[in-house]
Amino acid sequence: MYIDKISLKNFRNYRDETIEFSKDLNIIYGQNAQGKTNIIEAVFLCASGRSHRTSKDAELVNIDGTGFSILLELEKTEGRKNIGIEYERGKKKIVKINEVPVKKIGSLMGNLVAVIFSPEDILIIKEGPSQRRRFIDITLCQLKPSYFYDLQQYNKILLQRNALLKEIQFRRSLLDTLEVWDYKIAELSSRIMIARNEFINRLCEIAKRIHFNLTDGSESMEIKYSPSVGLHNLSDPAELKNEFIKQLSNTRASELKRCVTLIGPHRDDYEMVLNGLSLKMFGSQGQQRTSVLSLKLAEIEIIRSETDENPVLLLDDVMSELDFKRREFLLENIKNIQTFITCTDKDLFENRNFGDNLYIRVEAGRAYY
Ligand code: ATP
Ligand code: MG
Repeated sequence: MYIDKISLKNFRNYRDETIEFSKDLNIIYGQNAQGKTNIIEAVFLCASGRSHRTSKDAELVNIDGTGFSILLELEKTEGRKNIGIEYERGKKKIVKINEVPVKKIGSLMGNLVAVIFSPEDILIIKEGPSQRRRFIDITLCQLKPSYFYDLQQYNKILLQRNALLKEIQFRRSLLDTLEVWDYKIAELSSRIMIARNEFINRLCEIAKRIHFNLTDGSESMEIKYSPSVGLHNLSDPAELKNEFIKQLSNTRASELKRCVTLIGPHRDDYEMVLNGLSLKMFGSQGQQRTSVLSLKLAEIEIIRSETDENPVLLLDDVMSELDFKRREFLLENIKNIQTFITCTDKDLFENRNFGDNLYIRVEAGRAYY
């Protein structure tokens, strides 16, 4: 798939701008703070329904505006499509596919599939489990709308169950109602965990091969799912659900004491290991960065095989962080994929031609060709 153009109205520092893109490599360049990442952000918003930088839609509105709108035109094998996002301060944002508003934001998933790679992605390795979960959740949500709904539902039920655990402190009689919530949460948890387990196994297999090539065979990468509880069977939903309910009753006493749900997908993690050592604890900065590159390239491959279509690739400021060899490897591996690269120095790409490179200079919220 590829994006033909995007129109931004009162989005960040863009007042009213339409930018047309090349099917191949789009090099968005310019000085700092001109609006390069804002373009990437707008595209990502159309893919996932959220910004990669903020969870507050109000921040996306131009300081002199009352709301923003984005219109993105897309070409897919199944035909042309457009995605619109409209937001007015204080209201809910409206998502439109081919001009028709969608009832649920989940319906946006899978229309535009984007892989984003920015310097902060190193946090997937360096930081805590929530960053790691976020990475796999974003991909899984784009691939499987059912996963998005399960996760959304899970988060809602988790809040309600936690509220109930608190309430029980004061009204012991409510204890009997907990079981109903256990069943609900177990059902959703088992589906989410099965999807995560499958995805991580696949990611491991592919990232391992890519990383092996990228490091000339010197580094072997492993990715291991570590759910919040020891579970034996991660493929049979019914069995997993029963096991999860059992585990919940085992942790009941501590949950009642601490008034929070202690096990479940919200506590999941996965570990990345290089040549037998934890990448988080022992990996060098360069090894961590290269591993993220392998993860992202693996993500592209998974999307391609699941959807029979190439995702679009958003590379925000990553080129200058990679050494020559890794940069070449990346560029070699993204042929035929529409790519958006932001950078301050366009000369890095002067000798690389993907058929149809397009240079877009960005200055103070305007794009020049
Ligand atoms: P860098 O090279 O430093 O990454 P960039 O070109 O990627 O820079 P962006 O992050 O895209 O920069 O845009 C930053 C600019 O957008 C800043 O000048 C900032 O003040 C402006 N900006 C951000 N949000 C808004 C907003 N809501 N209204 C108006 N301007 C905004
Ligand atoms: Mg930027």
